[in-house]
Amino acid sequence: MTDTASWRGLWGRVSGPPEPARSSSVPPSSDAALQAVIAALPEPAILLDAEAQFVAFNAAAKRLVPALQIGAQAFITLRIPELIEAIRQAAASSTMQRVEYFERVPIDRWYEVFVSPFTSGAAPMILITFNDLTPLRRVEEMRADFVANASHELRTPLASLLGFIETLQGPAKEDAAVRERFLEIMRNQATRMARLIDDLLSLSRIELNAHLRPSTPLDLTPLLRQVVDGLQTLARDRGVEIRVAAPEQPLIVAGDRDELIRAFENLAENALKYGASGKRVDIALTRGAGRDGSEEAQVAVRDYGPGIAPEHLPRLTERFYRVDVQDSRAQGGTGLGLALVKHILNRHGGRLSVESTRGGGATFTAHLPLHTGS
Ligand code: ADP
Repeated sequence: MTDTASWRGLWGRVSGPPEPARSSSVPPSSDAALQAVIAALPEPAILLDAEAQFVAFNAAAKRLVPALQIGAQAFITLRIPELIEAIRQAAASSTMQRVEYFERVPIDRWYEVFVSPFTSGAAPMILITFNDLTPLRRVEEMRADFVANASHELRTPLASLLGFIETLQGPAKEDAAVRERFLEIMRNQATRMARLIDDLLSLSRIELNAHLRPSTPLDLTPLLRQVVDGLQTLARDRGVEIRVAAPEQPLIVAGDRDELIRAFENLAENALKYGASGKRVDIALTRGAGRDGSEEAQVAVRDYGPGIAPEHLPRLTERFYRVDVQDSRAQGGTGLGLALVKHILNRHGGRLSVESTRGGGATFTAHLPLHTGS
């Protein structure tokens, strides 16, 4: 199939435009215009002559196929069987062909390629353009993963609920003590399902509003005190002392009150749940310098628990990512808490940073731009 000789004169052996009376190494003047057009295209683009030799290609194409050379033979240089077949088909039928191919090296990439035959003057040519489908495929994969994860997370407590209901209807029907115990477990499972649905809905609402920056001026000090007051019962249950340090002057950010409360609650709750062994959680509000040098508010939530190994840190804000799934479930976690925090902070023009070492506790810091005028 890739024997060069059998492909010479692509249009010469099939019905189609006549072969041009020119040498491919000396392009006619119209080729200069074609070359300029190819060079201007943002996507990888390659132009072939009737002999399947490269007449022009742009920098993006050279990055994709480093072996490209003017005058070289496409069937030797392009080592993609689907593409070679498409070129042959396009030449034979004079109709545009579309192929998709997948590359594993150096990283997974998907391409859609259009092979379009046309004539320039009397010269038959083929334009090959590449469309990188990788970002689209990644989004599709993420969406499929997300649906699979969410279904799995809901199915697990649901299966356990059904199991308990059957036991209560059958073997444990008359056993009051067992009934009480099972009902308590069922309540916990149902609560976890409700929290999961609540988190999923919050995530999608925040994503829908991602482009709208909240504008209400909010002083973070009373807001943080409110969050901590609400968590005192959990802190007492876990035997943890939770303290807030805030400056005298108000620190004002432009924000959505409910969302910021939710974000700080999630961070503080995680510190109380996963860092309980440290017996102490410190929340510090400070004014600091942002990455671009502008002033920002920083809310650092520090615990003294087991900390998080470095390999997990970059993935913590992924939906459903947990360091220890059993531990998270036992704590009533949904795996969505930090994803929510990240999205809330992003919508506020801020970000989340994490510092932790195994055995040294963890510090999650919310960075928020100050409200202009504060
Ligand atoms: P979850 O609902 O499981 O708590 P999150 O998104 O809030 O989900 O957190 C993701 C994971 O990050 C948790 O399951 C836990 O493994 C880890 N994690 C979060 N905060 C801490 C912390 N302060 N200390 C140790 N591990 C933490």
